[in-house]
Amino acid sequence: MRPSETGLSKKLFIKTYGCQMNVYDSARMADVLAPLGYEAVDAPDGADMVILNTCHIREKAAEKVYSELGRLRSLKDDREGMVIAVAGCVAQAEGEEIMRRAPCVDIVLGPQTYHRLPEMVARAARAGGGVLDTDFPVEPKFDFLPESSAPSGVGAFLTIQEGCDKFCTFCVVPYTRGAEFSRSVAEIEAEARRLVANGAREITLLGQNVNAFHGAGPDGRDWGLGRLVRRLAEIDGLYGIRYTTSHPLSMDEELIAAHGDVPALMPFLHLPVQSGSDRILAAMNRKHTADDYRRIVDRLRVVRPDIAMASDFIVGYPGETDADFEDTLRLVRDVGYAQAYSFKYSPRPGTPAAGRRYGHVDEAGKTERLAVLQDLLDAQMSAFNQASVGRVLPVLFERTGRHPGQIVGRSPYMQAVHVDAPRDLIGTSAAVMVTGVTSHGLTGVLAAFSGRPMHSEEVVAG
Ligand code: SAM
Ligand code: SF4
Repeated sequence: MRPSETGLSKKLFIKTYGCQMNVYDSARMADVLAPLGYEAVDAPDGADMVILNTCHIREKAAEKVYSELGRLRSLKDDREGMVIAVAGCVAQAEGEEIMRRAPCVDIVLGPQTYHRLPEMVARAARAGGGVLDTDFPVEPKFDFLPESSAPSGVGAFLTIQEGCDKFCTFCVVPYTRGAEFSRSVAEIEAEARRLVANGAREITLLGQNVNAFHGAGPDGRDWGLGRLVRRLAEIDGLYGIRYTTSHPLSMDEELIAAHGDVPALMPFLHLPVQSGSDRILAAMNRKHTADDYRRIVDRLRVVRPDIAMASDFIVGYPGETDADFEDTLRLVRDVGYAQAYSFKYSPRPGTPAAGRRYGHVDEAGKTERLAVLQDLLDAQMSAFNQASVGRVLPVLFERTGRHPGQIVGRSPYMQAVHVDAPRDLIGTSAAVMVTGVTSHGLTGVLAAFSGRPMHSEEVVAG
């Protein structure tokens, strides 16, 4: 019997900030709390428990969490017994400071301890709050998470790796998420099969450093991501596999080869480079040069000529000169991106770059560089989208659109494609003739529907 049927149902609202890994973690927190009678709702009003699953990557992340907590405090004043928890990377980094500054918070937990949530809820109820658990426990949380039986979206996320040992000088992740850890192949495969049985047709494998994956294989050896992808591609009903986010240093030959001969591995890769200047890459401790990155892209394009590239960039890293920035623009022109995220460098407390006292680029300089870079990236993205017009692409439909009769899916290159078509195509892949580009993505018409997965090489390019 479900908790709602027993009358014991409690409402759980989780607000998720940041990346897909947090989206995955939020879903798993809901799974962990389900046996206690918590059911997810989509607003905090009237909720018995609110979790803010925070991200520390963006600037002023902690301040945004404190202002959200201010709003929640008034809800809590009107609802006796409401539990407020702060999870994720801000919780990991701020710990006791959150308890001190926001006494309305009952529980503070880091990204590695959410399998202990039921016990924290019980402790908070007994003690009237004040529960802090930001350990990096010896037992991996994945061993303690219940199997999710919730229906999957057509596109599902699956965390295969966590943490990072790369220590880029600007980044908080190694401190908030801890050391690299990979799940076992068997565990990942079992979760992937469950996701597919629950409706997923495409799975995005997640990790802070996903291509550093080295999980125990069924043969007792460590498997890399290339091998894992091949294994997962054998699952019936799984049409597409993606992975994010990768580091150039961990793009090994096995993984590159998989891009050439595993049709389910989608021809789109988010491979952040951060800068095109070797001097800045060295200062960032990225441990590769701009030409190393160019060579990786070339090798990928040899095995998969239509692969579309995406990246992250940071402008105004301490010491970045106009010449360094020009190197970044040159790299962008050489590679040609279909999608990118670009940021002004901003110091994160506790990171090596934040401790540098000299060479900081002033705000106006960063703003100007960011605008120039974004103009170039926007132009590349528009050109990429325009080049899709007239092509027939396989589109995996995920949901209904905003207009009646419209459904929305993704192309292999992560473009949103809007098509007037029957709703029952959601969850299937169909060939779509792209007819136009809008600010929300592409529009198209059904070209043919085969009722079976189609990969890009099966449809005729225009
Ligand atoms: N693991 C990925 C990699 O190695 O590139 C990136 C992970 S990080 C969560 C996401 C992005 O946030 C980074 O690629 C970087 O561009 C940006 N970022 C991280 N720290 C930053 C900082 N201090 N200032 C500006 N942008 C930052
Ligand atoms: Fe952060 Fe990515 Fe560098 Fe790791 S590899 S320290 S997650 S930017």
